[in-house]
Amino acid sequence: MSEFDASPEVIVLGAGPAGLSAALWCASLGLSTLLVEAQREVGGQLRVIPYALENVPGIASIEGVTLAEVLRSQAISQGATVRSGVGARLDAASLRVHFDGVAEPLSPRAVVIATGVRRRRLGVPGEDEFLGRGVAFNIGREPERLKGARVVVIGGGDDAVEHAHLAALHARSVTLLHRGERLSARPALRTAVEAHANVTRRPRMRIEAIEGDAAVTGVRAHGPHGAERIEADVVFVCVGPEPVSEGYGVATDAKGYVRVDAQGRTSREGVFAVGDVCSAEAPTIAHAMGSGSAVAKAIRAMDGGTRSAVAVVRGASDRLGLRGISLPARIGAYPREKGRQQTLTFDLDFDVDAARAATADALRDTIDYAAVTEAIAEIIARQHYNLIETVAEVVATTILARFPTQRVRVRVTKPGVPQRRAAAVIEVERSRG
Ligand SMILES: Cc1cc2nc3c(=O)[nH]c(=O)nc-3n(C[C@H](O)[C@H](O)[C@H](O)COP(=O)(O)OP(=O)(O)OC[C@H]3O[C@@H](n4cnc5c(N)ncnc54)[C@H](O)[C@@H]3O)c2cc1C
Repeated sequence: MSEFDASPEVIVLGAGPAGLSAALWCASLGLSTLLVEAQREVGGQLRVIPYALENVPGIASIEGVTLAEVLRSQAISQGATVRSGVGARLDAASLRVHFDGVAEPLSPRAVVIATGVRRRRLGVPGEDEFLGRGVAFNIGREPERLKGARVVVIGGGDDAVEHAHLAALHARSVTLLHRGERLSARPALRTAVEAHANVTRRPRMRIEAIEGDAAVTGVRAHGPHGAERIEADVVFVCVGPEPVSEGYGVATDAKGYVRVDAQGRTSREGVFAVGDVCSAEAPTIAHAMGSGSAVAKAIRAMDGGTRSAVAVVRGASDRLGLRGISLPARIGAYPREKGRQQTLTFDLDFDVDAARAATADALRDTIDYAAVTEAIAEIIARQHYNLIETVAEVVATTILARFPTQRVRVRVTKPGVPQRRAAAVIEVERSRG
């Protein structure tokens, strides 16, 4: 019998420090627990940290990969099942988890989203084309390979400045291209990078393309002196993280971070989130591990039949978001589209009333996210639509009429059709009054 044949009580998605800690704690509290990781190895970001960690409380110094292995062994010895190299997808409405290459989904009592963050992309020509051929998002664990290279680092925050500093220890030259006038990185990092004679800082630069032939040869950018080309053998794109939160059907903030209460409960009963995917403010290992333990306690309490209503603490903003709702639709004006079903993806932003959102149960008192998803599903099940513009319009008008939001923005994405290969995206915004 395989671990995918019977539903455990808890499924944890993602085996970074948050997911590993959640699995360890759930198992130690007596809950049957399956932890799945999409990558071949567990550890998440721990695997790419290029230096020994000295800020994990209680541990003087440890390599990220070593910490990942210790956490994995601890989770297993507490009784959790850990599977890596398996992608998983949650259908939040039915609380079923689908696994790549496995026919039947599982229905646990609780799902923990611990999917972390990915590095944000610039979205310029050449970025994808030269990924792995000079373009990278992380310096990796062997910075010595940069010896003699001309390196360009793009970004002005902590991540970029840290990359510039580490690269400068080995590279021939490092050019730090950033959009603002000043670096936004913390002072200690700025001081470290300023001490290198081989680092040139270039403010107010807008990146237009990454260029090359077999591998990267340079970056085309526009700055205070007009357009120019900066020669490079290696380009690090370090423009910040973004949460891996699409498609879970739970409430997020406007940047896509999952909204949770202090125990990791999301807007959907039975669905929890931990670590970086719900923590824009404190994306650290200590926080990831701590949130993993808190969520296990909340799931254990739920197990005793005392499921409490989801109480989500309001963040600073009253703008709420719901990302990546993918639904089947009959859509398109081309003849061959009339007879087949396609998938539309919806992203919504709501401006909720501050007074209503100030209640203890902020999300439920403002927008019932499950009901929003059902309303959209109803609209697109009703008929064949020629244009996504019409779908966006009908969805925005319906949501505004039925839900207590001051404003709604609906973004609809339709995959490419043979005649127009790029995906079509349309955005509609409607407000009251
Ligand atoms: C270069 C660098 C240096 C850092 N330095 C420090 C430091 O000094 N101190 C510190 O405290 N923090 C540091 N951090 C941050 C720290 O690593 C993160 O805060 C921490 O790893 C977050 O843990 P997480 O488990 O939430 O997410 P992640 O570590 O991002 O792990 C998420 C995991 O989920 C997996 N996943 C995603 N989607 C799915 C899916 N659908 N199914 C299954 N699996 C999925 C991913 O593959 C990944 O393995 C650093 C990060 C980097 C990149």
